[in-house]
Amino acid sequence: MTETFGADFLVRWLTAAAGVVDREADRLTELDSAIGDADHGANLRRGFAAVTATLAKEPPRTPGAVLTTAGRELISTVGGAAGPLYGTLLRRTGKTLGEGARVTRQELAEALGSGVTAVSQLGGAQVGDKTMLDALVPAVDGLRESFAAARAAAEAGALATVPLRARKGRASYLGERSEGHQDPGATSSALLFAALDETARTPRAGAAS
Ligand code: ADP
Ligand code: MG
Repeated sequence: MTETFGADFLVRWLTAAAGVVDREADRLTELDSAIGDADHGANLRRGFAAVTATLAKEPPRTPGAVLTTAGRELISTVGGAAGPLYGTLLRRTGKTLGEGARVTRQELAEALGSGVTAVSQLGGAQVGDKTMLDALVPAVDGLRESFAAARAAAEAGALATVPLRARKGRASYLGERSEGHQDPGATSSALLFAALDETARTPRAGAAS
């Protein structure tokens, strides 16, 4: 039987994501200080803290609603480029999932695919431009196979941004001086998919084994 995931799974994912973003915020900010303005860690820490607070206060009842609520929260709390972009990713993914009470991994992958397309439309970037899309696009492809494959693909995509020259976002102002540095947004995207894989490996508290 195909495994399905309810709203609680999506809440656990975003809570785990908030934890890893909090722990890695200094590294994200360090990466952003090399080719940006040193605020990526702080931006995401603030945004994901707001997401978990909102989800804890009134947990939405469907996977789609969890993601649209989280996306809205990111858009309203994060000022930098990444807030609206990640917010759009989650909102569009949530809208694509619709009202169903449970989703399969395949459905989540399809919906995330539409979210990633929305990110590309909003920011005008493609794979190879040294942005979060360099991790997000391969991650969604990997998710069609497994959570672990999504995580590995996102990590590889983030590492692959190192030699690239940035063509979008603040780092693009640096031209060739952006080469040799890992993109902060691709790095945080890899963290989100690491958190998703961890969540899939961790049984729900109180669940029958
Ligand atoms: P800001 O650039 O406004 O300071 P952040 O530092 O929070 O915002 O986020 C920077 C990250 O956002 C970059 O590392 C990159 O991955 C991502 N990013 C910036 N512009 C775009 C874009 N047009 N499309 C996709 N991702 C982008
Ligand atoms: Mg920045």
